[in-house]
Amino acid sequence: MRRLVSIMAGAFLSVGAATCFAAGSPAKDGGAEWGAHGRDAAEQRFSPLAQVNADNVGQLGLAWYTNLAERGGYQSTPLVIDGRLYITTPWSKVYAFDAKTGKALWKYDPNVPREIAGSSLCCNISNRGVAYWNGKIIWGTLDGRLVAVNAKNGRKVWESQVTDPSMAYSITGAPRIGNGIVFIGEGGGEFYTRGFLAAHDADTGKALWRFWTVPGNPAKGPDHAASDSVMPMAAQTWTGEWWKMGGGGTVWDGILYDPETSTVMFGTGNGIPWPSSLRSPDGGDNLFIASIVALDAKTGKYKWHYQTTPMEGFDFDSTSPLTVADINVNGQKKHVVMQAPKNGVMYVIEVATGKVVSADPFVPSINWATGFDEKNNWKPILNPDANYGKTGKGFYVVPGRAHAWSSQSYNPATGLLYIPASYGVGSYVAEKGSRILGNQLVDVSLSKQPDASIQRPVLKDTGSYLLAWDPVKRKVAWTQRQASGSAGTLTTAGNLVFQGVSGQKLAAMRADTGEIIWSTPTQGNVVPGPISYSIDGVQYLAVISSASTGFAAANGTNHLLVYKLGGKVTLPPAPPVVAQVLNPPDNFGDDAQRKHGQDVYERSCTGCHEGGRMFTGYPDLNYTIALNNGALFKSIVLDGALRENGMMPFRKSLTDDDVEAIRSYLTFRANDLKKNPPRPPAGRGAPPPPPP
Ligand code: CA
Repeated sequence: MRRLVSIMAGAFLSVGAATCFAAGSPAKDGGAEWGAHGRDAAEQRFSPLAQVNADNVGQLGLAWYTNLAERGGYQSTPLVIDGRLYITTPWSKVYAFDAKTGKALWKYDPNVPREIAGSSLCCNISNRGVAYWNGKIIWGTLDGRLVAVNAKNGRKVWESQVTDPSMAYSITGAPRIGNGIVFIGEGGGEFYTRGFLAAHDADTGKALWRFWTVPGNPAKGPDHAASDSVMPMAAQTWTGEWWKMGGGGTVWDGILYDPETSTVMFGTGNGIPWPSSLRSPDGGDNLFIASIVALDAKTGKYKWHYQTTPMEGFDFDSTSPLTVADINVNGQKKHVVMQAPKNGVMYVIEVATGKVVSADPFVPSINWATGFDEKNNWKPILNPDANYGKTGKGFYVVPGRAHAWSSQSYNPATGLLYIPASYGVGSYVAEKGSRILGNQLVDVSLSKQPDASIQRPVLKDTGSYLLAWDPVKRKVAWTQRQASGSAGTLTTAGNLVFQGVSGQKLAAMRADTGEIIWSTPTQGNVVPGPISYSIDGVQYLAVISSASTGFAAANGTNHLLVYKLGGKVTLPPAPPVVAQVLNPPDNFGDDAQRKHGQDVYERSCTGCHEGGRMFTGYPDLNYTIALNNGALFKSIVLDGALRENGMMPFRKSLTDDDVEAIRSYLTFRANDLKKNPPRPPAGRGAPPPPPP
């Protein structure tokens, strides 16, 4: 289980006021609104508001809150426009509130088929947020649609299917919008899919262009896509029959539209399968997986790319958030994009040219590369031992996964970028046919260790923490180990950084030093980045806290929490943690029925209920009262009585007899557990151990 967590640990993160938006965007504002995913087009997640500051942050109190019902992973960055606050919740639902009072205004449920949780999701039932354009709220759904609704009343304006519904694609990321064009990517790289960035008309939903991130089957000819002009070049970096496995390179999080250069930039995910030797047997860098790619925002025409990890084999998605800033390097102003992806290297790249300004490890002793070829635009020099598919020996890679999607933020006053980071070791052994977490076809074995001849690196000060990176001095300015390596950040002109920290708290740090100067209990984990906005002269801070253990559903209460100076609202006491009681009926059924039940259970249920894909919040069925009632059990398993909780109906694949056999098996198991209480193994309904 520990190794499983180590593998999943990462799968799971212009001076503000002067930033201009193109017409139609929520322009204005001196920071009164939070009109886009990263607030401004540069995605700095910097609020120019300073009413709340390092001197008075201790007076923050709750202005209003609301409970959020859905179970799942809460990852949404709220938007605030025209006095309304919008969030997404699990199952790609959207809620609108009065941002001052918390009054619920409308909600929209796109009715995502719940079955998708069983087939196409690697690690979550989640959504990271909406976008706004011309009076419309626009977002992606788990089943691969873009939906646009009227921002005032939530009525649907248009809907567009982005992904091929016959493939295991999903959308969890937030769309970005520039100059009337919606840019959206997709997840699904671990299911043999082919990544792309899609552009749709923001007013009509019409598909405009598409850029595939990896080449398709060369025998089929061009895709008739924006990527056609560079796919022959990309295909030269692949060998074998990669297209049969899709190739990967999905665009599941970081996208940024830069109005200054009319460029859309995005990060691409890992290659699939993970060992490069299995997807591209005779070598090759495998463009454009694990890369930052820049396109002309209007046409989708290729501008430049930088591949962060050539021949990627460690789930080193380069999909982490992108942030643009104007920094001064050796007396020269540079308009740069910054990314700190899973591979542990901080990249600073010129937006206009793709020229790397600097590439520096932000965690110590990385070992997948031995250095950078600065003359060749800082191409990494790969460690040959890290090619574990080719050596056949396995490899312990450092870092395991340093930073996934957790929002970073950049403060123009301090010149620092705040990055949630994890430092540890990942271990990889290639094995054809191996899946991970129940259903992901990655060809890496989790049950095997690298060859005894391979030494596991001994690291000091491993763990998860917040770091502040100085992109000019090219070094860490401070680290705060009491803060989080897996929660998003907000920074403000009040010399503050806000972040959810362990112990279910929201904390404020001084932006210049990292000193924690305030915290408040949130009755849940604050995972997505907080936001700030102002109405009628009052600065507010909004965060989402969830009972989720990080990846998915859990019992408990989820909240949208909004703070202001002198706020006096209090949360009701958290519901007490109720100890689970084993109360199964007497054993029933014969050995054959139980055996059949076990077979069906292991095939159909353990992906979620036994923590098979880190869906750790799903109930431990040893304890369910439904074991006592066959009709209730069937209504849940076959007919979807708990659909809203993410329990899909199995009517299409299971019979009444199958389900009764499962109940017989689980009853037998629960009685066995009751008789032998010391047995509960880790991972069965227990919260996961913290990431290493
Ligand atoms: Ca991945």
